[in-house]
Amino acid sequence: QLSLFSGLEDTSPAKRVLVAKVVFESGPEGVFDYRIPKTLVGKIAAGQRIRVPLGKSNRPVVAYCLEICEETDSPQLKDVAGLIDEAPLLTPALLRLAQWMAEYYLCPLGTVLETVIPACVRNQAGTRLVPHYRLAGPVDAFPSLTEKQARVVAVLLQASEHRLPRDELTRNAGCTAAVLDNLVKRGILVKEMARVRHSEPVAATLPRQDRLVLNQQQRQALEIILEAVRCEEYRGFLIYGVTGSGKTEVYIQAIEHVVKRGKQAIVLVPEISLTPQTVERFRSRFDHVAVLHSHLTDAERAAQWDWIASGQVQVVVGARSAVFAPTPRLGLIVMDEEHETSFKQEAAPRYHARDVALHRAQLERIPLVLGSATPSLESWYRAQQGEFMLIRLPERIGGRTLPAVKPIDLRQPKHGRVSRGVITRQLHAAIHEALENGGQVILLLNRRGFATHVQCSACGYVLMCPDCEIALTHHRSFGKVLCHYCGHEAPSPKTCPECQSVAIRFSGVGTERLEAEVKARFPEATCLRMDADSMRSREAYERAFRLFREGKIQILLGTQMIAKGLDFPNVTLVGVVNADTALHFPDFRAAERTFQLVTQVAGRTGRGPHGGLVLVQTFSPEHSAIQSAVRHDFEGFAAQELPIRTAFGYPPITRLVRLVISAEKEVEAAGWAERVARAILEALSQTGRPDAVRLVGPAPAPLMKLRGKYRYHIQILGKDENLVRALVRCGLQSLEDARHVSYVVDVDPVDM
Ligand code: ADP
Ligand code: ZN
Ligand code: ZN
Repeated sequence: QLSLFSGLEDTSPAKRVLVAKVVFESGPEGVFDYRIPKTLVGKIAAGQRIRVPLGKSNRPVVAYCLEICEETDSPQLKDVAGLIDEAPLLTPALLRLAQWMAEYYLCPLGTVLETVIPACVRNQAGTRLVPHYRLAGPVDAFPSLTEKQARVVAVLLQASEHRLPRDELTRNAGCTAAVLDNLVKRGILVKEMARVRHSEPVAATLPRQDRLVLNQQQRQALEIILEAVRCEEYRGFLIYGVTGSGKTEVYIQAIEHVVKRGKQAIVLVPEISLTPQTVERFRSRFDHVAVLHSHLTDAERAAQWDWIASGQVQVVVGARSAVFAPTPRLGLIVMDEEHETSFKQEAAPRYHARDVALHRAQLERIPLVLGSATPSLESWYRAQQGEFMLIRLPERIGGRTLPAVKPIDLRQPKHGRVSRGVITRQLHAAIHEALENGGQVILLLNRRGFATHVQCSACGYVLMCPDCEIALTHHRSFGKVLCHYCGHEAPSPKTCPECQSVAIRFSGVGTERLEAEVKARFPEATCLRMDADSMRSREAYERAFRLFREGKIQILLGTQMIAKGLDFPNVTLVGVVNADTALHFPDFRAAERTFQLVTQVAGRTGRGPHGGLVLVQTFSPEHSAIQSAVRHDFEGFAAQELPIRTAFGYPPITRLVRLVISAEKEVEAAGWAERVARAILEALSQTGRPDAVRLVGPAPAPLMKLRGKYRYHIQILGKDENLVRALVRCGLQSLEDARHVSYVVDVDPVDM
């Protein structure tokens, strides 16, 4: 970007110098050049942080060295001022990954690096500077030494880089610090300050668990993956297998082979599944398992990071950000529950760990294994296109059957409410029976706070946008229904457009109201609510699960939080209170989310000897998402849903970038959004491929007012992801002189 050298090469005599190409942690965007002074030659490498002077005042700033080149000397170049870290924080592969992310997610590289390298590592949390002593030169050059001095030299000769911290050296050589300082004076030792950790990570190793004998299907899956491991090439796999079909055992055995080859594996799981049980499963099979979750202290996380970087760790198990684990010899990446939206980071650079993992696997030439019982349509589509190899594990281990799933049609009055409330007679009776027989009950109500759809309670009709196949949202303040996708608006109806009934409803019920209803209906039962409000800490969450596991809670109700992960053999009933909350959410993935949610919560039952039943209350029992969930038929669902995505031009057929433009005044947000959209359309018309990209909006964003700001969004869709990104860049340029406006770029958004 900075072309200080251009034109100079031929005129000046060829004096060559080493130049560090750097980006700033915070500061101007772009790549800048600094000369490496003689004193620092050989001490700087790509991925390392250095200090450089910036601007007229030459204030020192932190920069990341991207690469070192030999170039012609130029008088404009300033010198690197010093080092921040002694060694690179990033492996070369991670540095390239970060560069790719900056490009792909349209985000400054400095911001990406702040994401890739945890803050605690950058701040050197849990470390302190202590004096170290190093041998100054070759041993035979030393003049006569006393016995103590000779011991010091002998100890240092054994140490790596012939260097040790003071305490360790005095202890091992049995001498005092004065002896060392004396040797420094004589020029035999060099004293320097270096960082050490307060405490090393505890590598808990559990009693060994034996490798299971794989069944036929698992064996085939493993063999296919191992072939790729042996080739040392990128290969993508999607394991589609119901919960309990033995996917994890396949991952573990694949990793055993990777470890045998002296390499490391990263296993990514959703934060919510990163339970002690999950970790134990890996610790009982491998000696050195590092764990990265969001509840580590800074010092703990930094220690894990160092330990991983040292190459001693065999397996890294972690949530989203573990995709950046600095393993020096990565051999395999596994992502379990790959459909989980928590793999997407909702702050810049807004990366999706699945796509980052895919790119890292390609960079490091290793296999990537994704697994799910309800794969994302993104991955499923890739498998259909031949980009991923599909591996099916269709049966549960031990031949356990899947629970029966039955819809309850909320439109039929005979199932109608016992009183005002959301639990139907049929669900009430089933809860009663389950409790009578000593079973436990899970009730799911996945209501996200703000969305209110417009639904007729007589016929179930939901008001949809004519252009988008998306539910319209009622805005009470101005009496209109809006499409949050394209901006279509209409007056809020007083009667149902379908059946003319006046039974039109504008509201939904949240988990708190459900809790009150459950307590009123079943005053004797112990009941616990789990949602983002009641489960603020990990402790609260783990305690709730423990109480439920121990049988101290009979009814667990909550949002999707309760739909995931754990195995509770005593759960005999799952009730989905309103499957339509997700179904009519203003998002083109609404059907996919509904299918996933119902399927996943259904998986919480039928695990014990008493079997299980799943009741799904819905106004749309004939909807393909509900029907497919009833039949446990992901493939059938995908076969119906993908053509719809194709017809409407949505992902995964296209790539989508979402721009959200916000301002304190609504007219400003709307006006700037309009301007950006115009700039994009203009650039598009110049490509000569006007149909290659589609613009939706600008329209009010689903959360139109957020933190005092009005938000408008534009969605840019197209099959050619490079073209889509180039157009977004053009659009953003028109915001360069905008004041009082901020924007967010979300590449491959998962939520609207
Ligand atoms: P998934 O990851 O698909 O949910 P798991 O690998 O966790 O499946 O397997 C489900 C259960 O079956 C676990 O308790 C696991 O120990 C057990 N299991 C897996 N594979 C085998 C096997 N080949 N033989 C016996 N038990 C197995
Ligand atoms: Zn109606
Ligand atoms: Zn619309």
